[in-house]
Amino acid sequence: MKEITEWITGNVTLTVNGQPLELQMTVPATPVKPQRMLPIFQRMTDSFVEMGASAAQARGQNVSCRAGCGACCRQMVPVAEIETHRLAEVVAAMPEPQRSEVYERFDRALAELAETDIFERMSEWEGLKPDDRERIVREYFKLNIPCPFLEDESCSIHQERPVSCREYLVTSPAEHCAELSPEKIRRIEIPVKPSTPLRHLGQTNRVVGADFIPLVLALRWVEKNPDRFHEKSGEEWMADFFRILTNKTVPIPPKLP
Ligand code: SF4
Repeated sequence: MKEITEWITGNVTLTVNGQPLELQMTVPATPVKPQRMLPIFQRMTDSFVEMGASAAQARGQNVSCRAGCGACCRQMVPVAEIETHRLAEVVAAMPEPQRSEVYERFDRALAELAETDIFERMSEWEGLKPDDRERIVREYFKLNIPCPFLEDESCSIHQERPVSCREYLVTSPAEHCAELSPEKIRRIEIPVKPSTPLRHLGQTNRVVGADFIPLVLALRWVEKNPDRFHEKSGEEWMADFFRILTNKTVPIPPKLP
């Protein structure tokens, strides 16, 4: 992976709940694949989550998520196509025996899922009613398949965890996550959820049905769908991201001579 040597910093102002939200971002000035933008989206997500956590704390609600609590890590975790490629790189770079163990956990998870029709039904995701989607998510959870990255009930790729994992922070007791009781789970409200636009960023139209890929399928996905992403500058990727987020065209400032 070639090193990024040129960076550019700019400001973006979003209007969230009628209030301006100023973001300063430093992005690659030269063309890169979209997965190279992930650290920027991860930091952006962490900032939004911190805002949500501070607002909750001001209301007297403290975050109950702790290292060693993997209660939510048996859910179907949605990841973006660009995240699958990053996750595959992360696993490939792991030292042995961890790398082989993680591959084995992915294989075991897929073998269990192959006994069900969950992925088959997910191919119709777009046309499914919310209740049917909810049923699939619950059935998946009932299988009690730990995320292949879960070790001793902690995330073994904490710095690299997907954006949807970063967005999931609760102030309710862990047992509600462990039972998947949506009515009792109190999630931190965040001003913007980057996971949603991220799913469409650079997407190659190979994702059908749902607009996400379940995390357990990430490595299989990459095997079958090699990296064919285009390269764009960081500013262009950011403009795409905010266009998808806001449904508006985002102008890119002209380059200075
Ligand atoms: S990636 Fe980490 S945080 Fe996300 S589900 Fe897996 S173990 Fe949990």
